[in-house]
This record gives sequence, structure tokens and C-alpha cells, in this order.
Amino acid sequence: MKETEIYALALKTWGKEPQMLQVIEEMSELTKEILKNINRNRNNIPELIEETADVEIMLAQLKQCYGIENEVAAYKSQKLEKIRLRLDEFNKKAI
Ligand SMILES: [Mg+2]
Repeated sequence: MKETEIYALALKTWGKEPQMLQVIEEMSELTKEILKNINRNRNNIPELIEETADVEIMLAQLKQCYGIENEVAAYKSQKLEKIRLRLDEFNKKAI
């Protein structure tokens, strides 16, 4: 079964609203692990891996749920180009 088929089935089986609440829950779990790592200097790489994967899965479902995959990809490209330009400027000043 393809990744997109799994997401479509999850949305159909559990519904849009519960799945979108799951996006929020997974993002908060990842937030918690990032903060643990920074504030308590904890070696929680396995938890960071797990929660990052969970968030990626849920963000993919969010995009599919709203049918915004292409728009997000286009926006992401624009943003990355802006970041690259800012980094170029920043690194020129640093020299
Ligand atoms: Mg999780």
C-alpha cells in the first residue's frame, strides 16, 4: 500500500477532525522532546526520532486532508530561496 493510500484510509476511517487533532498532539509531543533535550540536556535521540517521524506522518496527512500538497511544496521552495539569500547576506557580512 502506498503512503498516500494509507493516509487516505486513515482519514476515511478515523475522520478529518480526529486526525487533525492528532496532528496537534504529535506536534506537542515533538515540542516536549525538543525542550527536554535543550533544558535538561537529556540524551533523548530515540524519542526525537520517533516524534519527528510521527509529525512528518501527520503533516503529510494534513496536506492530503486539505489537498494542499503542491501549494505547500511551492511555498516551501520560495521560503528556502529566501533563507538561502539571507544566509548569503549574513555570511558576506561575517567575512
Ligand atoms: Mg508521538
